[in-house]
Amino acid sequence: MATTSFTKKTLGLETSESGLTPPPSTGHATSFVKKPKLAGKSKKREIPEGLWTKCPKCATMVFDKELDENLKVCTHCQHHFPIGSRERIHSLVETCTFEEMDAQMTSGDVLNFTGVTSYTSKLEEYQKSTGLKDAITTGIGKIGDYRAGLGAMDFSFLGGSMGSVVGEKLARLIEKSTEKALPLIIISTSGGARMYEGMFSLMQMAKTCAALAYHAKARLPYISVLTHPTMAGVMASYASVGDLILAEPGAMIGFAGPRVIKDAEFLLDHGLIDAIVPRKELKPRLIEYLGHMTNGTKQAQG
Ligand SMILES: [Zn+2]
Repeated sequence: MATTSFTKKTLGLETSESGLTPPPSTGHATSFVKKPKLAGKSKKREIPEGLWTKCPKCATMVFDKELDENLKVCTHCQHHFPIGSRERIHSLVETCTFEEMDAQMTSGDVLNFTGVTSYTSKLEEYQKSTGLKDAITTGIGKIGDYRAGLGAMDFSFLGGSMGSVVGEKLARLIEKSTEKALPLIIISTSGGARMYEGMFSLMQMAKTCAALAYHAKARLPYISVLTHPTMAGVMASYASVGDLILAEPGAMIGFAGPRVIKDAEFLLDHGLIDAIVPRKELKPRLIEYLGHMTNGTKQAQG
């Protein structure tokens, strides 16, 4: 009698336990299935970005390191990519001879200009992304045996536009070169005057040319190098008044509109440009020209 009542109790416990366990275990299982799928998606990126650049002229994929070593000139078709002002100066001057001028000069927002964003925030954005304060680097350095005033514009900073900082830094460089009896070299690349500064940017055209007139009056040479692109207010002022005007191959040069924008080769044929010089040859050619133009005043001291 006693044995029959015992078996009934155990049967009751077994059924209640098996009925409760399944629901929570199935809930966990679905959430685990989704995670491996997300991990699988990220595996699709195979080519790391920033290692190769496609040449716009010959469509070859050029290894970035190779491009940097070749002064940003395509190793296949000799297309000249834009080069930064610092790299440009580094490629021309003798090691440790460049003394930069007005490195910290920045622009004020005189007009309180606001378009899509304010001019002030635009400047901050470009200063962060380029590590530059404005679109030009100026200073005095030694090229070969010649000390010279040197200015190099940078297209990556607001399209190399000429505002009050570009104009003022150039005017100071020209005045210092005049004072120290040094030849002057300006390498231009610019979309023109900086419209965020309105009339203040246009005034730089007259200011830089006036300073250049005093430099010329002191019978000191000025070499202007035009690179892709040199346009508008910059071309209509200091870039086109060099004693010697050089250009990089294929550079677009002009004022505004298709009728007055031509490539360097057209302007060489028509006499505006004296010579087209590939980037790699620029330094030896500048040394040669400075030799002719300074006529023995090689040891000009600052
Ligand atoms: Zn190419």
